[in-house]
Amino acid sequence: LGMDSTDWGMLCALLLAVTTHWKKGNIKVTLSHDDETSTADIRDSRDICKVMKAHKKNFLVLYASQTGTAEDYAKQFAKELTAKFSLSVLCTDVENYNFESLHQLPPHVVVSLFISTYGEGEFPDSALQFEKFLSAISEGGLSGLNVTLFGFGNSTYEFYNGASKKVMEHLKRSHATLIGNHDLADDGTHTTDEDYLAWKENTLQALKKQLRLNEHEQKYEPFFEVEKIDAMRENISLGEPSLAYLQPITHSFSSINIQLGPFGLNQPYVAPIVKSRELFEDTDRSCVHSEFDISGSDMQYTTGDHLGVWPSNADEKVNKFLYAFNLDPGIIFDLKPLDSTIEKPFPTPTTIGAAVRHYMEITGPISRQSFGSLVQFAPNDQVREKLQELAADKDQFSIEITSKCFDLADALLYLSGGSKWEAVPWEFLVETVPHLQPRYYSISSSSLSEEHTIHITSVVETFPSPTGDGNVVGVTTNLLKNIEVVQNKKNIEDLDVHFDLRGPRDIFSGFKLPIHVRHSSFKLPLDPQKPIIMIGPGTGVAPFRGFIRERVQAMKTQRGMKLGKHLLFYGCRNYGDYLYKEEWPEYAKKLGSSFEMIVAHSRMTSKKIYVQDKLLEREAEVFSLIEAGGFLYVCGEAKGMAQGVNAVMVDIFSRRKSISKEQAAEMLSVLKVSDRYQEDVW
Ligand code: FAD
Repeated sequence: LGMDSTDWGMLCALLLAVTTHWKKGNIKVTLSHDDETSTADIRDSRDICKVMKAHKKNFLVLYASQTGTAEDYAKQFAKELTAKFSLSVLCTDVENYNFESLHQLPPHVVVSLFISTYGEGEFPDSALQFEKFLSAISEGGLSGLNVTLFGFGNSTYEFYNGASKKVMEHLKRSHATLIGNHDLADDGTHTTDEDYLAWKENTLQALKKQLRLNEHEQKYEPFFEVEKIDAMRENISLGEPSLAYLQPITHSFSSINIQLGPFGLNQPYVAPIVKSRELFEDTDRSCVHSEFDISGSDMQYTTGDHLGVWPSNADEKVNKFLYAFNLDPGIIFDLKPLDSTIEKPFPTPTTIGAAVRHYMEITGPISRQSFGSLVQFAPNDQVREKLQELAADKDQFSIEITSKCFDLADALLYLSGGSKWEAVPWEFLVETVPHLQPRYYSISSSSLSEEHTIHITSVVETFPSPTGDGNVVGVTTNLLKNIEVVQNKKNIEDLDVHFDLRGPRDIFSGFKLPIHVRHSSFKLPLDPQKPIIMIGPGTGVAPFRGFIRERVQAMKTQRGMKLGKHLLFYGCRNYGDYLYKEEWPEYAKKLGSSFEMIVAHSRMTSKKIYVQDKLLEREAEVFSLIEAGGFLYVCGEAKGMAQGVNAVMVDIFSRRKSISKEQAAEMLSVLKVSDRYQEDVW
């Protein structure tokens, strides 16, 4: 080839360059491939330690929430840690990760736990795996881990704050170090917000000391970027309960069926209300009976379960909120979380109008904690000062805001004298305003007699506003009342508030609402011969209507079935609010002497008579039925009624057994633990 040494040298250099280039390319490809895999790995990873490390997080806030309260406070706490101390916080539901690597977190990473209690001292549904993880930790298994703990509960329940107390025991056993106190929020005394604020002040001080944190002036740091979208598309949510409802299948509504399921808390079923009627004869109050058709949904319930009903906000409330923050309901936006550990609070892309109507809890009492965070966006100095003053003064806040039953828009417009709060960023509202939660109702039908229909009995929440400006209204019950009025072609002018009954892309047309079933442990004994005593004044009678219908149906299908005594104690004011009064005699006819209903009327005579009085009148029989292996059921208002019934039962047991009240209370607790004294109270 006639190449000299210089040529060979050049060729070698060229070859080397090409090889290196090729290799580099390969190396680059391999590296970027590695990068992608590891990002995807992390995105899909449930290993908490791995995710914390990958996202350079130095604080972990975990919540176990049933109705959204623990979640809201956990998120507020996380935001405050970021805004005041520039901490990099991962805030998440305990159901999203595995915690086996928790002990590997370095000591400067603190874990804050916000734990709600549900039912009889139980963990929320989403925390069952987390509870298992905690119970399995060995002694000393979390030694060196720094934690804070705050519990949410209701002192009117027997196992008050049971779940957070269990967490505390596990933390102690595992030798985790508690920073600050394990405090409890008590919804029973309506002090959740103040309980949280007191705990937070103390805990932040302790954290500042422990982690040597530098506090700076609170500066809002969004967790999302809001991206505006110019044109409406088919995949843009208009308030659908989930993105699954945007699939083409939903365009023919009749085809919404099991293909969208399984239905549950994360995927409600849009069910038609086939019948609704007003149950009260009194015109000053209202109680609605609604029947949801679940046929074709594959959803199942058993007698005694709860129905979750997903509301949307009333026109009047939506309009006031949009006005207060000068929001354009037509703007279409998407939320881009700033890192993959941040979850979107609701389905996006969507419109501002849809988010306010369908996804945000814009009414209800305001928390002093979140009120204070609006200081930075006040329209002028005077308003800023006033807001700061109220946020810092518990008593004044109670007088000027809480006692007037203001919601967020009311309170802000009152403070600003009607001026709009246009400086509040939309992403701030998205992150701070709680998301609209389903409300639960004790099912008043029986799965044995109406397998594919669920009945609920809801008393409409409305009372005169303390400011004299109309009525203070509950969201879901007024929505159910709207449906009842329109369905029965009554006068809508009489309603306090009005709702869009057609819903996003008309999916609620034909009187439909999103629902899901929550299974409960409030159940009849399997043996029908066991005597049962049911105590349910007002809407507390709902599940007992289901129980009785169940027995009637069983008698029909199982010839010769023997029934133990079924005593129902019911309470109402007079005949005008006597629920299902035409049905009970029919049931009595079918069940014969095994069924007896004892009614306490509280407004028929000068002396008010309650279910507790009736229980005492029948004390001997009640006691002997329980002694004979009977079951006691209580449903309705937790505080006054259920506690009152418990006190009467303590009296009865102590008298009849000649034991002290403490011993009697102990015996009733044993009955509760063995499911022979069951409560379904709220
Ligand atoms: P919400 O919007 O939740 O409002 C709640 C209350 O706050 C209302 O009284 C409302 O007027 C008031 N309010 C609104 N705004 C403010 C404000 N700014 N300041 C102060 N107060 C305000 N209920 C039944 O009727 N029947 C049942 O069978 C039944 N079963 C239940 C079973 C369980 C397990 C649970 C947990 C609850 C049950 N409930 C039942 C209660 C039900 O879940 C709802 O809480 C109730 O119907 C009110 O819902 P809402 O959306 O209409 O009111």
